[in-house]
Amino acid sequence: MQDHVKKLAEDLASFIEASPSAFHAVSVLEERLKSRGFIALDEKEAWSLQRGGRYYVKRNGSSLAAFIPGKKPLWESGFHIAGAHTDSPSFRIKKEGASLQGGILRMSVETYGGPIISTWLDRNLSLAGRVVTAAGTVTVDLKDPVAIIMNQAIHMNRDMNKGVEYNKQTHLQAAFTIAEQGDERSPAELFKALVAEKAGLDADSILDMELFLYDVQKPLISGMRGEFISSSRIDNLAMCHSIVEAIGEAELQDHSSLAVFFDNEEIGSRTLQGADSSFLRDLLDRLTAVTGGKGDDSYRARALSFSISADGAHAHHPNYPESHDPAYAPKIGGGPVIKISSTYRYSTTAETAALFKKLCKSEDVPVQELINRSDIPSGSTIGTMTSALTGIASVDVGSPMFAMHSIRETAGVRDHEYMTRVLKRFYNCDLNSL
Ligand code: ZN
Repeated sequence: MQDHVKKLAEDLASFIEASPSAFHAVSVLEERLKSRGFIALDEKEAWSLQRGGRYYVKRNGSSLAAFIPGKKPLWESGFHIAGAHTDSPSFRIKKEGASLQGGILRMSVETYGGPIISTWLDRNLSLAGRVVTAAGTVTVDLKDPVAIIMNQAIHMNRDMNKGVEYNKQTHLQAAFTIAEQGDERSPAELFKALVAEKAGLDADSILDMELFLYDVQKPLISGMRGEFISSSRIDNLAMCHSIVEAIGEAELQDHSSLAVFFDNEEIGSRTLQGADSSFLRDLLDRLTAVTGGKGDDSYRARALSFSISADGAHAHHPNYPESHDPAYAPKIGGGPVIKISSTYRYSTTAETAALFKKLCKSEDVPVQELINRSDIPSGSTIGTMTSALTGIASVDVGSPMFAMHSIRETAGVRDHEYMTRVLKRFYNCDLNSL
C-alpha cells in the first residue's frame, strides 16, 4: 500500500476514534476546519462575508456546514456541495430507565437507527453524547469501558446459533456496575452520580442528558496487505472525513464551495438539524442575500449548483453473492460507487451520474455502480431530500463497505483515498470543462 494511502486511512481511524457521537464528530470537524482557516459564524448573528473567506456554521451542535464564497457572485456560478451524515446507529440511554436486577445496575436503552443488534452484545461499551448542566451544555465521552450488554450462555438457550431475536426492552439492558450494600440512592440517581463523577461534573447541576453507547475498540487497518479498515461508524464518518479533507484543500474558484454534515440520517432526517430540515436551504438563501443577491438571485444560485451526497455503499459480499444483482456488485478496492434507484431513493440521474464519472476519470479513479437486486428494495440517504428541498441536481455516491450498521464495519483503504481525491477535484474544478 502506498504511503499516502495508508496515512489517509490512519487519519480516518483517528477521526473516527475521536467521534463517538454526532456531537463529537461535529467538534472534530470544527477543529479540523479551524486549522484550515475556517471561521465560526452563528445563525443568531448578522453575517458579513468576504469572497474567498472560509466559514462554518453549526446547528444543534450535531450538524455543521462549511463554505467558501467564490470569486463570482453565487447567482452566476452556484455552489459545489458535498454532503454526508454525522450520526450512526446506536443505543440511547433512557436516563430514568435504571433498575437493579440481581444486584446489577442496568439502564434500559432505545435503539437509535437500525443497528445489527447482535453485534453490540458482549462488547466493551462506553458512553458519549451531551449533558445539559445549569452552566450550559457539555460534550461528554467517558472513554472507559463502563457498560456491557451480555448474551445468555449457550447452555441456557441451545438454539442460540439458529439466530436470536432480542427484545429491545428486556434483553438489551446495559449493565453498568454492581450496586453496593447500603447505598440508599435510587438506581437513576446512582447512574447520574456515576456519570457525573466520570465526566468531572457536579451531579446536582445536571439538568438533562443525551448519552449513547459506543464500542471502545479502536479502528484497525486489517487484511494481509493492510487493504481493509475495520471500525464502528465507518457509515458515515468515512465520508465526513473525505469531505472535510477535500474542502480543507479547496482553493478559491469562480464557484462557491460548500460541505454539509447532517445529523439524524439514521432516523429519517426530519429534525431541526437533519437533511430534511431548513438548515441547508436557509444557509444557501442567506449566503445569496448576504453577498448582495436580490430578487430571484437565490433561485438562480441554486439552479446553477451541483451536489454530491456521499454515504456508505454495500460491497459485494463473497459469502452472500446472491444478495447482489450480478451486473451491479461493487468490489472493495474498486473505487467510488454511484448509487442508483428507479424509485429515486437515491438522487442520481443519468446526467448527474455522467458528471461524477467524468470527475473520477479526470483523477484516473475507477468508478462502480450499484443498483439493488430487483426483488430487494433500495436503501436511501440524504441526497434525494436535499435535492428536493433545494432544487439542486445531485448524485448519490459512496465507498463500498461490508456489514453496514454492524458495530464493526469494514471498508477499503484504497477506496477511501480514491473518494477523497475525487472530492478534492470536485471543489477545485469547473464542472463545465471536465
Ligand atoms: Zn449512512
